[in-house]
Amino acid sequence: MSLNSFFSRGPKYSEDQIKEALNALRDGIILIDRNNKIIWSNKNASEWLNLKDPFSQENIRAFFPTSDFDRFLSQSDENASLEAISPFTKSTFFSLQLIPFGETEKILVLRDITKPIQLEKVRTDFAANASHELRSPLTVISGYIDLMVEDKSIPLNWKKPIQDLAKQSERMKSVLSDLLVLFQLESESKKADEEIVDLQGIVMAVKKDCMAAKKPPKKFEVDFKDSGAILGDEVRIQSIVTNIIENALRYCDKDGEISVIWFTDAAGGHLSIRDNGIGMEEKHLERVTERFYRIDKGRSRKMGGTGLGLAIVKYALQAHEASLEIKSEVGVGSEFICSFPINRIHDEVINV
Ligand code: ADP
Repeated sequence: MSLNSFFSRGPKYSEDQIKEALNALRDGIILIDRNNKIIWSNKNASEWLNLKDPFSQENIRAFFPTSDFDRFLSQSDENASLEAISPFTKSTFFSLQLIPFGETEKILVLRDITKPIQLEKVRTDFAANASHELRSPLTVISGYIDLMVEDKSIPLNWKKPIQDLAKQSERMKSVLSDLLVLFQLESESKKADEEIVDLQGIVMAVKKDCMAAKKPPKKFEVDFKDSGAILGDEVRIQSIVTNIIENALRYCDKDGEISVIWFTDAAGGHLSIRDNGIGMEEKHLERVTERFYRIDKGRSRKMGGTGLGLAIVKYALQAHEASLEIKSEVGVGSEFICSFPINRIHDEVINV
């Protein structure tokens, strides 16, 4: 296909003029054929990938040799984008987009996102350092407060303020500890390990803690259709399960019923955690995994929530290429479904 056919009306531009226009773009533009060979690249793309010739004919996969990139190349969603690092400078970050072009060709658009990524890193590093700095003094302060709670010689009129202090210092400790987990998950954007994790064992341990809580649920059912062994990072899986089940407990009343079901199908493994609690309006569902997004701040705080639990769940799932679906109805309850891809299911337990 000639580049000229982009323009059906108006003046006819020469191919050179069109290339000149594409070379003037701030984005990198790479035209690739059906075999992923580079047909042509503009000035920025050639520079970023260190291509000596704009008609290089090299296979684009050689520049981004990851399975994520392979998946990205073979998908057909025009809105899909992928973050990738420059194979040449190793310090330039791109957002990649793929646009179908001609009969079988594609345009790969590379946008330099190094600056926003660096700014984001400075911001999260600052917040992570601040949280670390706060941890030691807070441990000392809460240690003394705990001693004061126990101290019988302290005048009675100080009892209530000291109890309030103890409650608030506990809250600060929970927020700090969740923040540190979140920063760690954010900074380790790498894939989770593939060790065999006993999901059922984790669920049973969290259930035991729940039943020992001050206000345990009336009913807690666990149904695993197989042993529930998955390939992942145990600490992160534990954090996913704990956060969702703790929420189920937190947002139920005394007649709370929680059910946890695990099953596998051709798509992978699915962990459904359902409660009959207060539920959520549809408009909140998309936002509850944002940091500090709480529908009812007062209730969340009162119940010991930090507003970070589901953000932690989201990052921990992402590291396992897993997704989260939330279904909920006000006054009826909520269901959180974590779906793990088939390659994360331990071979022996696939049940399709
Ligand atoms: P929190 O520590 O406040 O529970 P999360 O990030 O875990 O923070 O959840 C964010 C918000 O989503 C909560 O404040 C609550 O409003 C809502 N939420 C989460 N889980 C449930 C649930 N099972 N039932 C009802 N609302 C929920």
